[in-house]
Amino acid sequence: MNAIEIKGLTFSYGNTPVLKGADLSVPKGRFAALIGANGAGKSTLIKMLLGELPLTGENGSIELMDQELKQFDGWSQVGYVPQNGMAGYKDFPASVEEIVKANLYSRIGLFRFGGKKEKELVHQALCQVGMEPFEKRLIGKLSGGQQQRVLLARALVNQPKLLILDEPTSGVDKENTEEFYRLIKKFNREDGVTVFMVTHDRNCLSELADDVWHLHNGTMIRVNFERKGECDGDI
Ligand code: ADP
Ligand code: ADP
Repeated sequence: MNAIEIKGLTFSYGNTPVLKGADLSVPKGRFAALIGANGAGKSTLIKMLLGELPLTGENGSIELMDQELKQFDGWSQVGYVPQNGMAGYKDFPASVEEIVKANLYSRIGLFRFGGKKEKELVHQALCQVGMEPFEKRLIGKLSGGQQQRVLLARALVNQPKLLILDEPTSGVDKENTEEFYRLIKKFNREDGVTVFMVTHDRNCLSELADDVWHLHNGTMIRVNFERKGECDGDI
């Protein structure tokens, strides 16, 4: 029972191969981290997972929640915190509430709710990350750490079983990063949400992750848990 199962994944931009047969599995309920140098292909892998890059029969297979990606119809079970998620909102006159609510309609309105239920779900997601006092605030008026928590609430609003995060704390200060990790750890340990997180932050790994995967030369190497500290300098 895996939340994510990737087998023999290959991908090239033009003639430049980025993924060369990557394998990865994330059992349900685990916290898995993905590390790798800049340009290793981490974002490419995430884009493939989310169906944003084409997956043909020839470049391996991806399963989400035990379903082939092509047939996958459980997008409401997947929460996503993108890298630089604030980029599109910098000068966007949207409130915290509006941003979180919009995600109820993602993937072409697959999961619509009525007005009252909607409000409830948004409020609940904001409470989960401690941002409910800021519901009406414009997103641009918040600090970087608060914005990041709103993006986490946006990912949580559909009550996902799998949370995918792409370097969620880049540009966030140490204190807010720790708070952010504390929250994700809680969702994983207490609520059983499976987490797959791309990170540059090696310090967090031994505290957080059950499994660490290292994307290197287009393939995936599983980092031995006990030896995680030794991968410094290699990434
Ligand atoms: P990472 O997320 O690990 O930093 P990426 O997946 O963003 O790596 O990129 C992997 C490699 O593919 C890099 O060399 C990057 O420059 C290249 N790349 C990424 N996106 C594109 C694209 N749209 N077109 C061409 N090359 C790309
Ligand atoms: P990341 O931080 O994930 O490595 P980048 O900053 O490298 O992302 O890339 C930002 C955007 O530019 C992405 O959408 C990526 O696909 C695209 N991109 C990256 N490298 C190239 C490239 N060599 N040619 C074209 N597009 C690229």
